[in-house]
Amino acid sequence: MSKLMIIGCGGVASVAIHKVCQNDQVFDELMIASRTVSKCDALKEKLQEKTRTKITTAQIDADDTEALTQLIRDYQPDAVLNVALPYQDLTIMDACLAAGVDYIDTANYEPEDTEDPVWREAYEKRCKELGFSAYFDYSWQWAYADKYKEAGLTALLGTGFDPGVTSVFAAYAKKHYFDTIDTIDILDCNGGDHGYAFATNFNPEINLREVSAPGSYLENGKWVEVPAMSIKREYNFDGVGKKDMYLLHHEEIEALGRNMPEVRRIRFFMTFGQSYLDHMRCLEDVGMLSTTPVSYQGQEIVPIQFLKALLPDPASLGPRTKGKTNIGCIFTGMKDGKKRSIYIYNVCDHQSCYREVGSQAISYTTGVPAMIGAMMVVTGQWKKPGVFTTDEFDPDPYMEALNQWGLPWVVEENPVLVD
Ligand code: NDP
Repeated sequence: MSKLMIIGCGGVASVAIHKVCQNDQVFDELMIASRTVSKCDALKEKLQEKTRTKITTAQIDADDTEALTQLIRDYQPDAVLNVALPYQDLTIMDACLAAGVDYIDTANYEPEDTEDPVWREAYEKRCKELGFSAYFDYSWQWAYADKYKEAGLTALLGTGFDPGVTSVFAAYAKKHYFDTIDTIDILDCNGGDHGYAFATNFNPEINLREVSAPGSYLENGKWVEVPAMSIKREYNFDGVGKKDMYLLHHEEIEALGRNMPEVRRIRFFMTFGQSYLDHMRCLEDVGMLSTTPVSYQGQEIVPIQFLKALLPDPASLGPRTKGKTNIGCIFTGMKDGKKRSIYIYNVCDHQSCYREVGSQAISYTTGVPAMIGAMMVVTGQWKKPGVFTTDEFDPDPYMEALNQWGLPWVVEENPVLVD
């Protein structure tokens, strides 16, 4: 029995909260704490009758470490699950340290203000030294490793689908299928159609920053960076069919590269339709993806935040989205002296997710692993002092939980490889 605090009450949080409430054997108490408390109250109202989990709510600005530390101290949860935005990762990690509770999230830190001089200096140094220029990286959170170790606390980073499940797939492949892994290709396909010419499936600001950044991959321990969307492949996805996919920088490449240095090449591909790409290019060309504030009629406006206000709320896409997602990893390597290749993936149906929890599959495939990660930590199955990603624990109980909690996976031998 355990007590969890969830921070954030958006698309991903809503699914994680539904799943925590379904899993009332493990989570008997839950606090939903977010910036807009009315959203937390509405979810509590919807779920309280259907679960034995005792739900409370609170208003919190997670940028305010002191207030958050006090809230955690008052509530005394076993762990805090951060499904607010990556901007809050460090303040929430600080508050968890101060209050002495375990920390879990789904996305690595990036700054809200990319012009912040302290962040920019470290960023420019990292771009030069490591060779990838995405705004997000693990260095900020890995820097907490000693503090968490000394405090005897666990921080589990990135337990969404990608990152998250994809790294568990890698640990599972390494444990059960290979003596050595040579290459990993992570393929993220969304075959869903929401009927809008342009909308993002999760927080628009975070999503557009990610996909408009240069692509990069790791080869022989070194980053290779290429212009955004310049490497394109076609793949025939089970449950979806043929889709164009593009090489992107993605955070699990960095963690897998560090934790599995023997892997020769790690790449990440995501599918995009032509309409999405055309809109994104145009918005970028006119400056609407910029994170730098501009002054407009005496008011400071961050273009990408203004764009977010115009775009459909990802949470509203649920009833409109039809089709399936297929996310997984293709591994090649050696087993017992012979070459081997496998593909581990999950197919998820947007409408089934909506019927179950009122959300589309992108929120679902992130929110379910967020709950599972929290469960791994609070039940002690994944508990060790320090800061870790999901590839650094025994993958078996997590893989079993995926089957149980709505994200069943398959292992296909000899899949079609990506050239
Ligand atoms: P949303 O924008 O839908 O929700 C974010 C929530 O956080 C909102 O409820 C928002 O409050 C709240 N919030 C924002 N700032 C603060 C603050 N300062 N204090 C307290 N609460 C705050 O985002 P998503 O649900 O789409 O994404 C959530 C997280 O999941 C993100 O970090 C995203 O990067 C990650 N993600 C991870 C994936 C993976 O596979 N690993 C895939 C998709 C997303 P308000 O209601 O007031 O706006």
